[in-house]
Amino acid sequence: MNRTVIVGAGTAGVHAAMELRHRGYAGGVLLVGEENHEPYDRPPLSKEFLKPVAEPDTLRLLPAQIARDRGIDLRLGLLVTDIRATAQEVVLSDGSIVGYDHLVLATGARGRPLTVPGADLPGVWGLRRLEEAEALRKALDGADDVLIVGGGFIGLEVAAAVRARGTRVTVVEFLPRVMARVLSPQMARYFTQAHRHRGVEILIGTGVTAVIAGPLGTASAVVLSDGRTIPADVVVVGIGVQPVTELAERAGLHTTDGIVVDGRLRTSDPRIYAVGDCARFDCVVSGRDLRLESIQNAVDQARFVAGQIAAGHRPQADGDAQGSSYAALPWFWSEQYDMKLQIAGVASAEAESVVRGDSASGSFSVCRFQGERLVAVESVNRAKDHLAARKLLTADPARLRRVTRESVANGETALRALLDV
Ligand code: ADP
Repeated sequence: MNRTVIVGAGTAGVHAAMELRHRGYAGGVLLVGEENHEPYDRPPLSKEFLKPVAEPDTLRLLPAQIARDRGIDLRLGLLVTDIRATAQEVVLSDGSIVGYDHLVLATGARGRPLTVPGADLPGVWGLRRLEEAEALRKALDGADDVLIVGGGFIGLEVAAAVRARGTRVTVVEFLPRVMARVLSPQMARYFTQAHRHRGVEILIGTGVTAVIAGPLGTASAVVLSDGRTIPADVVVVGIGVQPVTELAERAGLHTTDGIVVDGRLRTSDPRIYAVGDCARFDCVVSGRDLRLESIQNAVDQARFVAGQIAAGHRPQADGDAQGSSYAALPWFWSEQYDMKLQIAGVASAEAESVVRGDSASGSFSVCRFQGERLVAVESVNRAKDHLAARKLLTADPARLRRVTRESVANGETALRALLDV
């Protein structure tokens, strides 16, 4: 029988399995997940899940019953330890060996560890897995001073959740601005001010050099790169992630900060695909070589690959002209307090910014231009701009060229209207 094995039961793996069935794929689907829980949604872990009372059920991504109903063989608490690519077999941590026709690597990413003295003390938390979020939520119940290392999406979302509990919180970010990896300086400034206004202390251009233990042997303070020591009984580390590539490396697949895939998301072995956080691909929309950590990317890539497999595209080496390339537009979101941040497209750090609307109103967008070309739109509480931007950025190039800095700057004109110009 034809069989697809999917390694990793996070968003990408689950969507690949579901989409195979949705498309009528008749072969076996084996979905292997290392974690012992039913597959769950990760985005809420740094947001509503940290509220004092959270509903774990809201996290459910693939209940076991649904997997059974769809004919997905969901195996949890199990690892794929090896790929025997020539034999088209995987070895599982229970010793069993399973053959595949297609293999999908959806191995995701793990939190980058903090490597300063004291980083392994009790009271220092990562936030990637459900157990970590549950433990952190408990720790927050009795916390006096929370210190967050990293002013990225995770760090700031946690800061907002902690402030909502009324607890003191400091964010330490070593770059000159928050969320620098993805956001314009204007939007970063807006979010910094919004956090400060709500009582979060944000220390920019500052690192943590050590975590210090108190009398009970748990974290009680941190030493900052400016020499200060500040109290912290809960330290949350949100300093980015590393793709999980060891399995692919052992199998001899091409990896460079991610499992490298081609335009159809095939690894250097055309029977093996990689999708989601672990995959490095040539993003057609941005013209850049990327690895993206977002739900959109995990879902769209998983669906694309499932479509390829279900359509029965015979895996062939390069030069295969079958099928089209993966070309989905990247988009992202974050929620902090009452601010919903939505980003469509990808801009590099040097992209120029044009502000649309009045930031004082709490609803505005920043349009990013690379030369004369609109490449991304960042919106806060302005969903219409975001949805229009997703259309604009995927419009044909001739239309996109007509979108100028002047045309977007007028916040009174709907961005959507620019599609019809
Ligand atoms: P995440 O998904 O964990 O939020 P990001 O890459 O969006 O990942 O953000 C991580 C942030 O952490 C970045 O702004 C980065 O500059 C910052 N950072 C990384 N290492 C340190 C460190 N040692 N101290 C303080 N900030 C750090």
